[in-house]
Amino acid sequence: MTDATPVSLEYRTEVKQLLDILAHSLYTDREIFLRELISNASDALNRVQYEMLTNPDVVGADQELAIRIQVDADAKTLTLVDSGIGMNRDELVENLGTIAHSGARTFLQSAGEGQAALEEIIGQFGVGFYSVFMVADAVSVTSRSFRPEDQAWTWRSSGDSRFTLEPAAQTERGTTIMIHLKEDAAEFANGWRIEQIVKKHSDYVSFPIYLVEPEGEPRIVNRRSALWRQSPSKVEAQEYEEFYKQLTFDSEAPLLHIHMVADAPVNLRAVLFIPARRERGLFHLRPDHGLRLYSRKILIQQFNKDLLPDYYRFVDGVVDSEDLPLNVSREMVQSNPVMRQMRRALTNRLNKELKTLADEEPDRYATFWQEFGVFIKEGVVTDTANQEALVDLLRFRTSKGGDAWVSFKEVAERMQPDQQAIYYVLGEDLKSVARSPHLDYFRAHDIEVLYLVDPIDGYVTSILHEAAGKPLQNVDDAGLSLPQDDETAQDVVAQEAFGPLLARVKAVLGDRVRDVQESKQLVNSPCRLVSPSDSFDRDLQRLRRLTEEDYTTPAKVLELNRRHPLVANLARLVTSTPDDPVIDAAIEQLYDNALLLDGLHANPVDMVERIQLLMEQAVAAKAKAD
Ligand code: ADP
Ligand code: MG
Repeated sequence: MTDATPVSLEYRTEVKQLLDILAHSLYTDREIFLRELISNASDALNRVQYEMLTNPDVVGADQELAIRIQVDADAKTLTLVDSGIGMNRDELVENLGTIAHSGARTFLQSAGEGQAALEEIIGQFGVGFYSVFMVADAVSVTSRSFRPEDQAWTWRSSGDSRFTLEPAAQTERGTTIMIHLKEDAAEFANGWRIEQIVKKHSDYVSFPIYLVEPEGEPRIVNRRSALWRQSPSKVEAQEYEEFYKQLTFDSEAPLLHIHMVADAPVNLRAVLFIPARRERGLFHLRPDHGLRLYSRKILIQQFNKDLLPDYYRFVDGVVDSEDLPLNVSREMVQSNPVMRQMRRALTNRLNKELKTLADEEPDRYATFWQEFGVFIKEGVVTDTANQEALVDLLRFRTSKGGDAWVSFKEVAERMQPDQQAIYYVLGEDLKSVARSPHLDYFRAHDIEVLYLVDPIDGYVTSILHEAAGKPLQNVDDAGLSLPQDDETAQDVVAQEAFGPLLARVKAVLGDRVRDVQESKQLVNSPCRLVSPSDSFDRDLQRLRRLTEEDYTTPAKVLELNRRHPLVANLARLVTSTPDDPVIDAAIEQLYDNALLLDGLHANPVDMVERIQLLMEQAVAAKAKAD
């Protein structure tokens, strides 16, 4: 038996903090509290609907699945009633006494960072149930759970540090939230205002939302339509946008929507969205990624991750199939053959739509690529079945492309007549690869080179050995055979002096280099590091250096350019004044420069001392000469 006197309990500290912020908030878009409460009611309705698929023993199995909003301007109250899954006493304490909502948690963490910013971000976070205290000075939640053995309870709070619990008389399943509005929040007791807010934020909630005004009949105010079950030709672009915003809480319109209707090989209705940005708003409201999976309009899973490959995790949307058995459990969903067929159909369609976008609207595709290109690269690496389609979607900066994003196909089409391969250079960023010594030869011969500066790029090339029917070749390959030019250089150092320089460099760098050789390809650069052809992970070295703590780049071959004045003079110095300290410092620095240009330098700061020594010497020599 339960005692009828209310018990008073204290909120957890974090809730007190949140309530304190909300109660004193000057946030202007307070209306979002209604979106939060409706979204909770809709979640509760989805859950009970799902429960009823398999459980015959649910309280009030014949109740209409709906949300009712009653306004009373005289009493300054707003009441939300849902016939959802309900809560028992323990659930009330747990769900409304602590912080469940992930947005609220992140919000609190950033609360330390200044009040002004806070005001702006409340709406973006959507702080969940507690946002009701922006408009309420007292709230009661009466709930009757779906379990026959549970009883109804009422939870009350005025938004201070405590809440109370007492047994309630409600026999109908579901939750009733009664809000007593603050003086300055009376607008929310008006029917037209509530209707306006529902249309703006909750129009696509799939359960009917009735507005109940003191006079007149209750009427449904949301459109409730399962957009994805309509014919694509009947849906306006604007509707897709609104649907997307209500589905994801993103404030920006999506970059692309795809509406799929298929009856074979499986019945499939889907609307997929590609957001405009990878980071939606600053604070992503969605606690997880995945597609909403329905079976005949009943929500089976809110964040399904099996309907698309992992690299498409930035895609949002809704998928519905009449071929999914209604009593399918969430665990069973994964292994259902219908799921596999849907996954294939959805993936193919996405690949195809992206290809079309790339071909027909290159500018819009460029925006897509900038935000999501890295996911496509992940797909190339991880999904062999779709690799070919995904490779077509890859875009790169190149030595000739300027700011344009160029495909393999374009590069292949404009190759030099005798060019054998598509060449690429790996490096840290566009600026440094553009300056890479590896490009000397290619620049001199007007050969286009792809600039690969994403850490994952090396991964892609290590998996992909050809593209657009051409072999892919790293310009740092020691074994690269390229047609040679005539030896017409001016300052070539004599062999007698060059030999001792090679020996000296070997002695100074020791194990750090595999070998030191003369370069056949360098034109304007003094030296470069090339990978021995047996170096299997060379394209992965940069990625590994970033991801593995004690990864050391394996030794490479250092190539010196005999025609470069720095190298020539260094050779002369080795012959004339072998003890000069500048020699070893210069060798070390040449090596570091080469590492740096390849994005392989572990700690550039270490070079500062040596650079200073070299500068001292240079300035001193000038001063002496003058
Ligand atoms: P979130 O919805 O992100 O979990 P909220 O603060 O909005 O966070 O809600 C907290 C929890 O309270 C919900 O997860 C749910 O368990 C419970 N809850 C809130 N409103 C209802 C409702 N109308 N019916 C049933 N449970 C509810
Ligand atoms: Mg919620």
